[in-house]
Amino acid sequence: MEKYIDIIRDSFTGYFNYLVNEITHPTWTSYFYWLIGLSLLVWVLEILIPWRKEQKIFRKGFWLDSFYILFNFFLFSLIVYNALSNVAVELFNDFLGLFGIENIVALEIGNLPGWLQLLIMFVIADFIQWNVHRQLHRRSWLWEFHKIHHSVKEMGFAAQFRFHFMETIIYKTVQYIPLAMIGFGIKEFFVVHMFAVLVGHLNHANLGWGYGPLGYVFNNPRMHIWHHSKQLPEDRPYGMNYGLSLSLWDYLFGTAYVPKSGKKIELGFSGDEDFPEDFGNQTLFPFLKRIK
Ligand SMILES: [Zn+2]
Ligand SMILES: [Zn+2]
Repeated sequence: MEKYIDIIRDSFTGYFNYLVNEITHPTWTSYFYWLIGLSLLVWVLEILIPWRKEQKIFRKGFWLDSFYILFNFFLFSLIVYNALSNVAVELFNDFLGLFGIENIVALEIGNLPGWLQLLIMFVIADFIQWNVHRQLHRRSWLWEFHKIHHSVKEMGFAAQFRFHFMETIIYKTVQYIPLAMIGFGIKEFFVVHMFAVLVGHLNHANLGWGYGPLGYVFNNPRMHIWHHSKQLPEDRPYGMNYGLSLSLWDYLFGTAYVPKSGKKIELGFSGDEDFPEDFGNQTLFPFLKRIK
């Protein structure tokens, strides 16, 4: 027990020091500055070449979503989740130890060239995310959490980070085991992670980009806006376009749907009129709903 408390304490202090260090000593692999840099870059593009020209620069939900970036990326993902996951990993390894298993690496990719390792990780991680995202829509208890992301009424880059913190736990837990089986550490994940942040920012940005033929591989603003459509086609009651970075999975498995330009479609979900509009109530909402 004490071991786990130590891990939690070390994770918190370790991460606090790490964060202070990140901010005071910028490096080329600083999450903090990359996130700010990518956000500013996509925001400037939205201002210079907006798709919906009448949409305000500080659109509806802009400040709420900015807070979500801070909360989900830094406070939760980098601090709380880090502590939780260190404990979970230790528990998991201890559990395996009971059966005399030291690790679950099934396929060692450490000998492959660096770029190929990153590519493999990226594709596997994205495919798992596509599956998880589909479940978020299909299972009603998961949908209660995922509704927060779909409460966006005007799209802009920061909307990417409007989601319930439970999503971080769900996505990362499901991803952990398969990625641990190919034996890679979190350290290499930086490039993949920042690339995914950029693609995700662009998917939600007020930009009319579809990337031409590359749109069949990469998710894009013209495709993702349909994922946020309030009205769903009759034959797709659980929605469509579940891809995060890649649109490929949706095209392969028949869940892609871009019938026409989605520039002006209404966003949200049915019943969103009564959905809370502030961080606190949005966070509590799925739990309170369960109690009721
Ligand atoms: Zn969704
Ligand atoms: Zn989205």
